[in-house]
Amino acid sequence: MDKHEAQRTLTDLMARFTGYVGKRLPQDVLDRLAELRRGEDSPLARVVYDSMFENLEAADRLDRPCCQDTGVIQYFVSAGAGFPLLGRLEEILRDAVRQATREAPLRHNAVETFVEKNTGDNTGVRVPWIHWDIVPDSDEAVVEVYMAGGGCSLPGAAKVLMPSAGYEGVVRFVFDVITSYGVNACPPLLVGVGVSTSVETAAVLSKKAILRPLGTRSPKPQAAEMELLLEKGLNEVGLGPQGLSGNASVLGVHIESSARHPSTIGVGVSVGCWAHRRGTIRIAPDLSYEILSHKEAAL
Ligand code: SF4
Repeated sequence: MDKHEAQRTLTDLMARFTGYVGKRLPQDVLDRLAELRRGEDSPLARVVYDSMFENLEAADRLDRPCCQDTGVIQYFVSAGAGFPLLGRLEEILRDAVRQATREAPLRHNAVETFVEKNTGDNTGVRVPWIHWDIVPDSDEAVVEVYMAGGGCSLPGAAKVLMPSAGYEGVVRFVFDVITSYGVNACPPLLVGVGVSTSVETAAVLSKKAILRPLGTRSPKPQAAEMELLLEKGLNEVGLGPQGLSGNASVLGVHIESSARHPSTIGVGVSVGCWAHRRGTIRIAPDLSYEILSHKEAAL
């Protein structure tokens, strides 16, 4: 396959995968929603969960997005330094978004800032948003697709705390954000927390936290314990599905951190909603692929 043909093939693959992610939730999210449905006593909460599953079944059957807000497309790319199409990947992902917008279809969600015009194809300045990690000594690429819907992005916040605020300050910040704005994001919520030096590093880590599969824990024991305590505390708030009250508020809480400046505690919060459209695909140098996030996915 020459470079042009390879570029076309990968564009088509990423367009189909991006559209697929908008229609079907990853297996870990489906499993957690089913678990939360089983744990509800309130008839209203059960009905809301049942309507979520009916909605997902209809989206699958009709091959349509499972939420009308298909978001701004964000790609988190871990690209091997030897991946053959590395230099063309940005163009490929932009073209894939245009194709997915036509074919999936995706709602037109890219408004050019200050110009205040919808571009009509879900691309624009720095959209799709692409975050790069270059992996040395690798020739494959792993791409995470995330649909950043308006509602689930609204509770996002980041702040640099005074060092005296300590980890209690991190917990207070998370609770303030979720209890003030969490219902904008169609609970149960996946809460990502980044702890770092400054606002942008904490914010990026908080987004990476919600890309981690449910059921995983931070490898740092103190952070893993904080994940559990935050989950317990937020569930006691009892937001319930769609914020209509119930036994659970969250799908989970994930924390990602970096080493940080001794004088600051940067904390970021990113939120995913019940329709957590996240997908992971691994692409080999010959463009064969494996979908890691969804069971038995057929593109
Ligand atoms: S918060 Fe999620 S489920 Fe609710 S409208 Fe936005 S994308 Fe859809």
